[in-house]
Amino acid sequence: MQRIWHFLTEAMDDLEPRYRAHYLAADARQTSVAIFVWLFPAVFFAYADYLIFGWGLTFAATAAVRLAFCGVSLYTIAALRKVATAREYDRIFLWWAAAAIVSVLFFNYNWASFVPPNGAITILALFSAYMVFPNRLGVRLIPPLVLSAGNLLLQLVVESVNPESLLTMTVALIMANILGIIFSTWLQNHRRTEFKARLEEARVREELYRLASIDDLTGIFNRRKLMRLAAEEFALFKRESSPLSVLMIDIDHFKRLNDNYGHETGDLILADFTAYVAAGLTHKNIWGRLGGDEFVLVLPGLAAKQAGFIAEQLRRGCEEKAPPRQTAGPGFTISIGVTEARAKDTSFDGVLTRADKALYRAKRNGRNRTETL
Ligand code: GH3
Ligand code: MG
Repeated sequence: MQRIWHFLTEAMDDLEPRYRAHYLAADARQTSVAIFVWLFPAVFFAYADYLIFGWGLTFAATAAVRLAFCGVSLYTIAALRKVATAREYDRIFLWWAAAAIVSVLFFNYNWASFVPPNGAITILALFSAYMVFPNRLGVRLIPPLVLSAGNLLLQLVVESVNPESLLTMTVALIMANILGIIFSTWLQNHRRTEFKARLEEARVREELYRLASIDDLTGIFNRRKLMRLAAEEFALFKRESSPLSVLMIDIDHFKRLNDNYGHETGDLILADFTAYVAAGLTHKNIWGRLGGDEFVLVLPGLAAKQAGFIAEQLRRGCEEKAPPRQTAGPGFTISIGVTEARAKDTSFDGVLTRADKALYRAKRNGRNRTETL
């Protein structure tokens, strides 16, 4: 029993709104096509009206209903093109369904004694209502059930058909409704499962990207991603000769900080420092962790002189305790090696090696300083 309930309720919990929003445009298109197809009987059966009623008042009335239904349908198709939310979609659909039900019942009533098989069209309308309109079950059920009840009522009260016909129609309607509920729910549930799988796939892909390119501790690019992006910038430098500078930054006596204040405080310092630098960057800058307490800042479009100015700003910022503190941690200083890509460089590695040499010089000359090579 519980399984049947679960099957019917199409439970998706908090994912439901996202699911509906994801398929909204496709659903609106599908519904528009279905509504358009229903215009065919609406228009071409006018000839049946003519054959049954001839020219006259009844024909005029049926023609008016057909015209009104076509108008509502075209208006609905236009409204569906602009639909923005699932609720709006449901509302538009239900209005159209109401017009369709009234029309079908009107023709069933008028045609009844002339065209006994019009029950077939009712069954077709009912089944397609289930299969073609991807609303949630609560909404999907309304039009077919109203149509079924209306049709039976019409036969029972207005037309007073014989019991055999009534029984046949009742069984046929029940069958169509049961099949409609089962198959449309199957279809919907399949789509929901697929949607969930797609979300999971996207999550895994994002996680993979994160693992492959983001440094866990600091949240900035890891060595691998940094080198890849830097190589792309270097290729651009080679092609267009626009300046490209590199800063290699290393925290001074970081080992000592770790030893004196603990590894965890060391971790916090790394995170605070990277966030401090990141806050002052533009989207063109590439900021990554090479490893340990060593970082690289790639500055496309900047010559060594301007890069040196930025390096000096960063160095002074650290010296003046500018990085925000997650703990009342100790102050620290940094040393920076600055260099600019040159025409004779053949790869980014060469540029980085020069920045490393400049950094080494900054360390050797007493730390807490920038050196340009
Ligand atoms: P120098 O001024 O010459 O750079 O001295 P230093 O002590 O900073 O020397 P070095 O750069 O060689 O030391 C880096 C230290 O950073 C060694 C290692 O214990 C520490 N370290 C590396 N990765 C991490 C990390 O993820 N977290 C913490 N807390 N420490 C790290
Ligand atoms: Mg260091």
